[in-house]
Amino acid sequence: MKFHFLTVFPEYFGVLDYGIIGRAAREGRFSVNVVNIRDYSTDKHHKTDDYPYGGGAGMVMTPDPIVRATEAADPDHKALRIYMSPKGEPFKQGMAKELAAYDELLFLCGGYEGVDERAIELTVDREISIGDYVLTGGELPALVVMNAVARYIDGVLGSSESTVEESFSSGLLEYPQYTRPQVYRGLSVPDVLVSGNHAEVDAWRARKSLEITKARRPDLLDK
Ligand code: SAM
Repeated sequence: MKFHFLTVFPEYFGVLDYGIIGRAAREGRFSVNVVNIRDYSTDKHHKTDDYPYGGGAGMVMTPDPIVRATEAADPDHKALRIYMSPKGEPFKQGMAKELAAYDELLFLCGGYEGVDERAIELTVDREISIGDYVLTGGELPALVVMNAVARYIDGVLGSSESTVEESFSSGLLEYPQYTRPQVYRGLSVPDVLVSGNHAEVDAWRARKSLEITKARRPDLLDK
């Protein structure tokens, strides 16, 4: 799988060198193409933004560098082209799994007050939001989506990590997890987890999942 990121801040993507994602990239589980939109500006100062028509606060990203950068990164439109936007479809675990089925994903990271609508009309297949709040740019949202998608690519998670038994995979939040020591500052691991009785462990985990979901995210149970 290949991830393209179109951005005016390529330095953000240095985080992809670290942790599980960094290891998986080095193993060739996926590839990453970071494109600096500024390189596609024909302006002598490499400008990528301008004042909004109609007035108002802030600047808007101009369409031409975005359209050219998209065409250069994905000339045959093989990628699903995504614009990260607070106005987009809310990102959910199910969507991460769905996006992992594509061979290529291209993320357009907006900035300032957003992107000229014509760039979206001409290049974008889908708009995705990571939540009902506004960030300064689309780089962190794109990295959030990419990270959740990459976990579904074969070989990215080690055998000890799994997307099967975790929050949202079954529609519920995950049960509490414990590791050594068995007693820490007077707090003990629940007896059932050290009982060796797998059926009882499973039943305890299922009950805890349900209790936590009911207390913290009752909306998930309604679904
Ligand atoms: N003026 C825009 C609005 O009110 O919808 C917000 C622009 S925001 C300051 C700049 C960029 O950050 C957006 O173009 C988008 O790429 C990104 N962004 C901000 N919040 C986001 C979110 N919740 N989900 C996805 N992208 C977001």
